[in-house]
Amino acid sequence: MTNIEKLTDYETRAGLLDGRVILITGASAGIGAALARRSASLGATVVMLGRSVQRLETVYDEIEQAGGPRPGIFVIDFLTAGGPQYDQLFEAVNDAYDHLDGLVHCAGILGDRSPIEQHDISVWHQVMQVNLTAPFILTQAMFPLLRRSGDASVIFTSSGVGRQGRAFWGAYAVSKFATEGMSQVLASEVGDGSPIRCNAVNPGATRTAMRRAAFPGEDPEELKTPDQVLSPYLYLLGPDSRTVNGRSFDAQ
Ligand code: NDP
Repeated sequence: MTNIEKLTDYETRAGLLDGRVILITGASAGIGAALARRSASLGATVVMLGRSVQRLETVYDEIEQAGGPRPGIFVIDFLTAGGPQYDQLFEAVNDAYDHLDGLVHCAGILGDRSPIEQHDISVWHQVMQVNLTAPFILTQAMFPLLRRSGDASVIFTSSGVGRQGRAFWGAYAVSKFATEGMSQVLASEVGDGSPIRCNAVNPGATRTAMRRAAFPGEDPEELKTPDQVLSPYLYLLGPDSRTVNGRSFDAQ
């Protein structure tokens, strides 16, 4: 059983991620976009993945205007991507940067909130594809690049319903339980003390489009913003977490 640790107030310092190359999925919106902007402000070159080129370009412009290292953009739809897209991504990162120091899985979809008894089967497959299978394939595809780093961090994004099942959260909850499992399996395979570490983060209720879809009646002003849930991600991406492997963190 993995202990869940709360990490709400990690203090970053200027240059924390200097020189690091970090790939972030879901970087076009919500938590992934906030993480891309913040990582760049701390010195990282971020490779941003998303479906929407316009939204990715907006984040790109914000990073450039703030004076961060020039980011990379790669458009991919995890619902439909096959081997050739992952090969292209590998070649693009390999050619531009030669290695990766971080791989953060933020992309995700909610699917339908409905009881298992009535859960739409095609929605089930879609949620599993985007939330679970794509992070597996992407991690495998990027592994040779992570192995070339002396200090690489893989982070999976989990959820509260990935640790305690709750009615009507269906495929989303099950995909997040499996995400925690994948993180633990990979962490055990790389082993403690290896140059690659792997951990999971639950951001908790956060003011994003996904949360709005799940709780349309909620007042968003009462929720943390994406910028306020980044502590565990930044800790895990930087050198302070070098020996931390196979753990699960709560951002709130
Ligand atoms: P958002 O809905 O704001 O953003 C989702 C991101 O995932 C977008 O960048 C989107 O890309 C990308 N994405 C969705 N579908 C695909 C796809 N088929 N292919 C590629 N990219 C895709 O979500 P959040 O920021 O709220 O969520 C980020 C992570 O945090 C998720 O894994 C979520 O499960 C988790 N989480 C969120 C919580 C919350 O309260 N917000 C609570 C607990 C966990 P695009 O914009 O280009 O479509």
